[in-house]
Amino acid sequence: MKIAVLKEAAGESRCAAIPETVKKFIALGAEVAVERGAGADASVGNDEFEAAGARLASRAEALNDADAILVVTGPDPTTLKGAEKGALLVGALDPLRRRDAIDGYAAAGIEALAMEWMPRITRAQSMDILSSQSNLAGYKAVIEAADAYGRAFPMMMTAAGTVSPAKVFVMGVGVAGLQAIATAKRLGAQVSATDVRSATREQIQSLGAKPIFVEQVAGIEGEGAGGYATEMSEEYQKAQAELVSGHIAKQDIVITTALIPGRPAPRLISDAQLATMRPGSVIVDLAAEAGGNVEGTVADERVAKHGVTIIGASNLARTLAADASALFARTLYNFLSAFWDKEQGRPVLPDDDEIVKAIRLTQGGKVVNERLGAA
Ligand code: NAD
Repeated sequence: MKIAVLKEAAGESRCAAIPETVKKFIALGAEVAVERGAGADASVGNDEFEAAGARLASRAEALNDADAILVVTGPDPTTLKGAEKGALLVGALDPLRRRDAIDGYAAAGIEALAMEWMPRITRAQSMDILSSQSNLAGYKAVIEAADAYGRAFPMMMTAAGTVSPAKVFVMGVGVAGLQAIATAKRLGAQVSATDVRSATREQIQSLGAKPIFVEQVAGIEGEGAGGYATEMSEEYQKAQAELVSGHIAKQDIVITTALIPGRPAPRLISDAQLATMRPGSVIVDLAAEAGGNVEGTVADERVAKHGVTIIGASNLARTLAADASALFARTLYNFLSAFWDKEQGRPVLPDDDEIVKAIRLTQGGKVVNERLGAA
């Protein structure tokens, strides 16, 4: 089994392997070739990969006869020449937005596996790239907010007077939101948080933050299907808007993380609500790529509206390249090793396995995933 680790395209700082996972793949009996410079932006040198047992190679050399190709983001299919027919391509392949590339993988005979479509089942928890990256993004969102905020987070009592603590409101308490709450608490802020799933109330309290919930209309009981939220009724949205209006004017920092799979991000803060916030307040919108939770969010930009800075954050995990790579690389290892067949010395992916069915996009020259329209 030959594994190729590719250098990512410009703009992607993460790497799909770290020396630790290289060693573990070799211990399973695989050979690992790492494209030179693959770890440079994630603070992993060529020499470290080599010391872990990998062979350093050009892209063409790494791909030559590769049985599995590990990536963070999906490469252009034309850059994968030389890989074996049936080679696995494992990474965050963004299937819905990169349909042409997925067709290209099929045409090249590559078996593409989209790690972001990993089902939310207990067995797959350690293979979940979305959680590992969202956790880091939630942390970094608070750091970005603190950096843009012209005041301090903790309360400080000094001889020159008292600095009051920042009030932080987290909207959407999934993986990113929970880490944002924990980070803001560690920095000494007064933290409140909201979600549509009732199961998050206790989680918010356990982190020492205050839950702010719509009480008059029922939200989603427990976790929601597959752990995910759905679009809420008009009645709920109206009640939520009123609740937010009453709360937001008193907040200094808002971190929004609300997402609904396969749908645009729900709009949680209107321009009129923004106008009620104190000048100098900061919003970090982690849903920016999905259209944003805040009216006026622009992905990858900072905009000022009514004296409030709105940071349209997309893919903040990328800015923590070393940690993000380590977690990402381990999820890939956890996935491939879970399916490893010792006798054959390679992973075997059964057609009827729940995980395989969810993440396999292409096989035998065809697109085979139901979510991409395959029968
Ligand atoms: P997500 O990124 O899809 O959404 C972020 C949060 O936004 C969610 O908590 C969601 O309920 C909330 N949200 C959606 N619409 C909203 C609205 N209108 N107002 C306020 N909040 C809104 O979610 P996520 O972070 O990926 O995780 C959601 C849940 O799934 C968590 O409970 C998590 O523990 C669970 N999970 C389970 C597994 C597993 O079992 N393998 C893996 C990952 C996550």
